[in-house]
Amino acid sequence: MQFQQALSTIIEQKKGKFIALSDNIWNVPELHFQEYKSSDYLCEALEEEGFQVERNVAGLKTAFVGSYGTGKPVVAILGEFDALAGLSQKKGLTHNDPVVEGGSGHGCGHNLLGTGSFAAAVAIKDYMALTKLEGTVRFYGCPAEESGSGKAFMTRAGLFDDVDVALSWHPGDKPGLMNFGSLANYSARFQFKGKSAHASAAPHLGRSALDAVELMNVGVNYLREHMIPDARVHYAVSDTGGVSPNVVQANAEVIYLIRAPEKEQVKDLYSRVYDIAKGAALMTGTTFEVEFEGTASNLIPNTVLADVMYENLTEVDLPLYDDVDQAFAKEIRSTLSQEDIKSAYEGLDKKTVKKLQERDIADLVPPHRDTSELILPGSTDVGDVSWVVPTMQCTTTCFAIGTPLHTWQVVSQGAMPIAHKGMLHAGKVLASTAIEVMEKPDLIKRAKAELLERLDGEQYTSLIPDSVI
Ligand SMILES: [Zn+2]
Repeated sequence: MQFQQALSTIIEQKKGKFIALSDNIWNVPELHFQEYKSSDYLCEALEEEGFQVERNVAGLKTAFVGSYGTGKPVVAILGEFDALAGLSQKKGLTHNDPVVEGGSGHGCGHNLLGTGSFAAAVAIKDYMALTKLEGTVRFYGCPAEESGSGKAFMTRAGLFDDVDVALSWHPGDKPGLMNFGSLANYSARFQFKGKSAHASAAPHLGRSALDAVELMNVGVNYLREHMIPDARVHYAVSDTGGVSPNVVQANAEVIYLIRAPEKEQVKDLYSRVYDIAKGAALMTGTTFEVEFEGTASNLIPNTVLADVMYENLTEVDLPLYDDVDQAFAKEIRSTLSQEDIKSAYEGLDKKTVKKLQERDIADLVPPHRDTSELILPGSTDVGDVSWVVPTMQCTTTCFAIGTPLHTWQVVSQGAMPIAHKGMLHAGKVLASTAIEVMEKPDLIKRAKAELLERLDGEQYTSLIPDSVI
């Protein structure tokens, strides 16, 4: 309890700085691998706090590592800061109103994620200095979580090889642990090339790249019946070849995103999708090239770390909410569908659901459940880190109950007091978990043993093609 209190005090003393940093990142929503301002803000803040910062790591311009201390144990705190396209939204409003029409916005709350993790790293550092605790704390600035998978590149580059434990969190609508598996994924652009021609006067001279895209999609849609039920295949036509129906489309592109519980299953499905592309090209007399888009490994749960993190989630004081917070949350919830609100209660026990139904803000921690056998039908590049280091993440309350991620409601709430409180709360929980682990080497030993057991002899391999640097 003593160290949790000390860490909370450090974060409370510096909270003005953390809130300003999070709001600054919120104000400059930047997409994957373009997070120049956001990463600058975080690097400058790290340097100001006395961290040694290495920029441009793993060959990524917006990836960086801030380090403090020396030797073992090495604790990694993961931070993200990328935004989403098309989700521009003014803060604090309870209706949709973009700052910039068609612009980007922090629809997944990564302004909070990056800053909450930074707050944790600062608190760990200050506590280490105060108590002369041995070890190293590193803040990993991880770009492109939404698309591009920065952490997959950082893991492939060996940046986590000497790390003992990795911790992170995600803004949510209630506190909880993320001790579950996720789907591995792989995404690529299929760029077809044909030959343009007058669609009426000389169609026989043309070869349509758009036809190839359409036939590829038809082929993949027939594949669905013959793939494992847990797999997912999504596509988006990113280039239809123009807007003139009287021109045979010479270029067209479709992006495929393939997911499955295991990396081998993803690889197998990808090769079948690739074969379908070959068939589509053959049928249409076109050619195609493939451009790698992103990949993430499945997430490996870790119950040893989950138990420690849960304990800290309950030990650290929950934020308090005033009438203004409550009124804002109520208004936001009036913009959500019943379906959104219902989905917030999924997987929770009846007692907790009942309590949450009486609230607009989740000011309680649901009881601990072992969810390590669950596989969530999403993907995260934290998965790659979790293959080489015991990794755990939690969520805290940053948004009104039922707020779905990737919506304007998240952006609107992301620079408001409820979100700030949740971010600081997350910083305290991560810092407390890190200190507990650093002070009890046996926990690290057990967490590593669990990881080895779960991997069952399998080694980490990256799905990023060797040709992609
Ligand atoms: Zn996110």
